[in-house]
Amino acid sequence: MQLYYHPLYSDLILPERHRFPIQKYKLLKTEIENLGVSAIHFQEPKKTTPAQLSLCHNQTYINNFLNGTLSNKAIKKMGFPYSNELVERTLLSVGASIQSSEHALKHGFSANLSGGYHHAYSDYGSGFCIFNDLAIAAAHLINTEQADTVLIFDCDVHQGDGTAQITQNHDQIITCSIHCEQNFPRNKQESTYDFALPGKTTDAEYLATLEQALDFCVRIHNPDIILYNAGADIYTKDELGLFDVSLDGVYKRDFFTLNFCKQHQIPLMCGLGGGYQRNLSSLINVHKQLFKAAIDL
Ligand SMILES: [Zn+2]
Repeated sequence: MQLYYHPLYSDLILPERHRFPIQKYKLLKTEIENLGVSAIHFQEPKKTTPAQLSLCHNQTYINNFLNGTLSNKAIKKMGFPYSNELVERTLLSVGASIQSSEHALKHGFSANLSGGYHHAYSDYGSGFCIFNDLAIAAAHLINTEQADTVLIFDCDVHQGDGTAQITQNHDQIITCSIHCEQNFPRNKQESTYDFALPGKTTDAEYLATLEQALDFCVRIHNPDIILYNAGADIYTKDELGLFDVSLDGVYKRDFFTLNFCKQHQIPLMCGLGGGYQRNLSSLINVHKQLFKAAIDL
């Protein structure tokens, strides 16, 4: 099992009390190592290239981000203070999702211990997302003729609005978002398929929707690969999510998705997605369910 990770994922200095739990990447990697599974291999990613970014993003936006010439308003909307470290970790995170997708295509499964930055639009960053790694990975696989049809299966509690906007005219990229209707973003975009569930959705309702959605998308579109946003913010104690899904519900979501892909022989690449708790050990435990499911499979 090849997992993509770089120490720079967590190496970002944020203001005290900043909402984003930047340390989660490093802590999760340690937790996975502590599981003591010899089949897990951590791979350091290479940075994405400007040409890959331009598959999904506007050139002016790319240049402004890389050159440090974004407006203060654009930086505020992005959600992170601008720094060279931010540029480095952003390029590494996107590169990792691309390389992880390619690995999954060849070997069936892979994950990036970052990624799932689905609020990034073609011409601006939003909600802690700068470049839309899963959309870029999908476009790259199609552009290089490694895949004909890619399904982006987004199970973060927030809608994949940026992904929907970027891919709206790309008929080889299918987007499916299962999210909470009342959560950010207020103005939702149109994915290929949207499943908007109400606040306080519990395990049974959530899992029933998930199973139907994935089965439907695969039957209709027969994707060559699925890029899975495994957001941990569906968990009941998440501070930016409004669902009442238990820890066991998160495990069952991840296990179902992984097992479904295995049974149907569809390569699966996973991005970490959102997850927001001040209690980092509780947060890491939610993200860890994905890797527990992968080991149990
Ligand atoms: Zn989220």
